[in-house]
Amino acid sequence: MIVQGARESAQGHHSDGVRGVTILGSTGSIGLSALDVLARHPQRFRVVALTANTQVERMFEQCRRHVPDVAVMRDVRAADELRHKLDGLGLLIEVRSGDEGLNQAAALAQSDIVVAAIVGAAGLLPTLEAVRFGKRVLLANKEPLVMSGHILIREASRSGAELLPVDSEHNAIFQCLPGGYRAGGPSLGMRKIFLTCSGGPFRTTPLDQLFSVTPAQACAHPRWAMGRKISVDSATLMNKGLELIEACRLFGVAPEQIEIVIHPQSVVHSLVSYADGSVLAQLGNPDMRTPIAHALAWPDRMESGVKALDLVEVSRLDFERPDPQRFPCLRLAAEAARIGGTTPAIINAANEVAVTAFLGGVVGFTDIPRIIEHVLSQVSMNEESELSVILADDARAREAAQQFIAGLSNRPKRGIQ
Ligand code: NAD
Ligand code: MG
Repeated sequence: MIVQGARESAQGHHSDGVRGVTILGSTGSIGLSALDVLARHPQRFRVVALTANTQVERMFEQCRRHVPDVAVMRDVRAADELRHKLDGLGLLIEVRSGDEGLNQAAALAQSDIVVAAIVGAAGLLPTLEAVRFGKRVLLANKEPLVMSGHILIREASRSGAELLPVDSEHNAIFQCLPGGYRAGGPSLGMRKIFLTCSGGPFRTTPLDQLFSVTPAQACAHPRWAMGRKISVDSATLMNKGLELIEACRLFGVAPEQIEIVIHPQSVVHSLVSYADGSVLAQLGNPDMRTPIAHALAWPDRMESGVKALDLVEVSRLDFERPDPQRFPCLRLAAEAARIGGTTPAIINAANEVAVTAFLGGVVGFTDIPRIIEHVLSQVSMNEESELSVILADDARAREAAQQFIAGLSNRPKRGIQ
């Protein structure tokens, strides 16, 4: 439930009006964009904590530049290295480590806002912690929502946390709900949602060449510069499949109410169609600083550093239906959304393992949907989806995917037709 400012009295309501911000995953693509926006508004925000996995150099630079109270490296050796490098700089930055350190960063009393920007299921527990502590949570990290959106929404209604979508499409939909936004609730008079996507780097690649595309080609997205995992997801369109599930969770709609359209210019970030025939859209240059600034300042608006949209320069907006043969991941995700229970968590786990194997050169691009389909046929879902059940099914799906990949990688060459 969205309760504007409900927890401010309990969560460090700073008398100077400056809001404390924690970034989970600060060294990633979203983390960098968030820090760029925050640095433009020192009078409104203060960086309280930054977290990363292993990237010591980048974290060290961020510590020097933003001087957080706390810096967390999940990797214990990386934390030691960071401590060592920070020694002697005379900055009062406490370095913590491990999953415990991540959860502590998410819950710090000095921070009002938590940007959830870790990649994958790894972000679930710290994001949940931020929600339980009643923070304004900026959700970029979509995998926890896919796995357990109902739990995040339930916990938010208990704690008074504000769940604000930062994924550009969901942030666009949020902006196209003039009647207001209640996480998980249906919106009055909404007929359907159009979820847009660019179609990724292989929109027009001949189908028989897809199996041998390289990780570098898959990560060269035509419109957005993103982390490697989401870049591969954008090439298979599993990203759009995960986003379909994310939209069902956030906006309380059925999968049938969502239509995915390819929009190569990536200027219209999504649209909402209403019973009276109105269709509302949110437009802008493709830059994640827009949704981040929107959610940081909401319900205000503030400067994000993003260039204003020049409509004449854009000149035309194209829309087309995705080809189901080219993008089988879309069908798999839509199926998972319809089946429900722990199926979205299973599909997400299988996809994470498959993408890691593809990025490591172990399997071919077209093996990704095969691995997911195999896991879906092997791992039985649970109707009941409490956290422990979700985590157990996530683990079973990862194991099934690994086993299948071990069989695939005995093949003589990468990828199979
Ligand atoms: P990224 O790979 O660039 O960054 C990931 C961050 O998470 C890094 O700071 C890394 O240190 C940290 N991290 C990785 N594994 C971790 C682990 N096991 N434990 C703790 N921290 C870990 O990813 P990104 O592109 O910034 O994406 C982050 C999330 O935002 C993803 O869920 C993605 O789907 C979503 N998202 C990204 C974009 C985008 O434009 N990049 C857009 C919409 C949504
Ligand atoms: Mg998106």
